[in-house]
Amino acid sequence: MLPFNSDRIPVVVVGSGVIGLTTAVTLQRTQRYQVTVIGRDTPDDLHGPPSVSQTWASPFAGANWRAYSGAHEPQLRMAEEQTYFRLRDIAQESPRSGVKIIPMADFGASQKERAQTPAFLDYVKNLKKIERKNWPFNAAFGYSYDSISVNVLQYLPWLAAELRRLGGVIRRATLDHIGDALKYADGCSLVVNCSALGSAALGGVMDKSVYPVRGQTVLVKAPHVNLTTMRPGETADKATYIIPRGNGTVILGGVFEAHSNDLLENTHTTDEILRNCLSMCPQLLDQRESTDMFRNAVTDDDVEKLRKNILAVSVGFRPAREGGPRLEVQREGGVTIVHNYGQASYGFQTSWGYASLAMHILDAALTGKAKL
Ligand SMILES: Cc1cc2nc3c(=O)[nH]c(=O)nc-3n(C[C@H](O)[C@H](O)[C@H](O)COP(=O)(O)OP(=O)(O)OC[C@H]3O[C@@H](n4cnc5c(N)ncnc54)[C@H](O)[C@@H]3O)c2cc1C
Repeated sequence: MLPFNSDRIPVVVVGSGVIGLTTAVTLQRTQRYQVTVIGRDTPDDLHGPPSVSQTWASPFAGANWRAYSGAHEPQLRMAEEQTYFRLRDIAQESPRSGVKIIPMADFGASQKERAQTPAFLDYVKNLKKIERKNWPFNAAFGYSYDSISVNVLQYLPWLAAELRRLGGVIRRATLDHIGDALKYADGCSLVVNCSALGSAALGGVMDKSVYPVRGQTVLVKAPHVNLTTMRPGETADKATYIIPRGNGTVILGGVFEAHSNDLLENTHTTDEILRNCLSMCPQLLDQRESTDMFRNAVTDDDVEKLRKNILAVSVGFRPAREGGPRLEVQREGGVTIVHNYGQASYGFQTSWGYASLAMHILDAALTGKAKL
């Protein structure tokens, strides 16, 4: 670990999910900032028995890189592209990070994608068209390319270790007011707010445009599956996705239930996920061949067999925000606050891009060039 360096500018990052930790690593790496992360939940929670709070989104993510930006979303596009290449580097350089490059069959997921070609097709690696006859019935398009799978339970502790190796500090605390963050670093007047859904109730922020989007996933043992697959659902609040983690386990999903706070498993949703995923990927059961690519008949017996391979069913809440993520500076008395939250269903796949954007906003605020 590098020593705490008092020549650097102290900054407190509130939140130690993927956005807070990535922002902290980005700032600390410049050797200009000395970062203290404050979190009600921290990656240290992931080492002991499973007692992770469901209000903390990051441990419940799939998580897969699959971009969403359209032609008129340059900030999101930048964040997706920058993160794609950074995660590829991490996968290649740091096998212990839990980040893996995995091929993906992608059939489009949104109404937007029926209207315009997604921007990410310009830069993803190993892009190939999938023949139309092999598309599921409701696909918007069909491409395969190198995607990235993140084993979140490995990656969050890896990010925390990376921050500590660089000399950053992580402390557990629950704040009532954003200004209280300053108590955790001497002489500090800079705060980066990455408290996600916490921003709705955090004094000095109280952002009422933040809301949860409930997700439910099923983790199964399926060592034969090595292709990520995604297709749209019957309605906008559903999609079918199969994300191998590269360690013999696979995440199956899922649902997007805006404004739902239901913490419990919906067993009907679990059954639907198992059935939909089997119809696209019979290899979930064994090495059997697909008969009709992505539209295989699924029997009740198949569903029961797959149920026996379930390792966990999880419910988590994506931190969404009306109008999209908040990246801007706020001044409160003598305190400068940079906000970086509201990444909804794409926090992992945009984390490095939004972290560098937050850093540019902070740099500009310090030199007096930021828009207030
Ligand atoms: C089922 C599911 C599947 C997903 N799949 C993907 C995917 O495939 N790809 C992808 O990119 N993303 C995916 N996501 C989305 C992703 O998980 C989120 O976008 C991301 O985790 C948000 O990270 P965050 O750091 O902003 O928030 P969080 O992880 O929620 O972290 C917030 C932090 O703030 C802290 N905090 C809050 N309030 C306070 C307070 N008052 N005082 C102190 N600390 C506070 C919390 O303790 C926590 O440390 C998925 C999410 C779900 C639920």
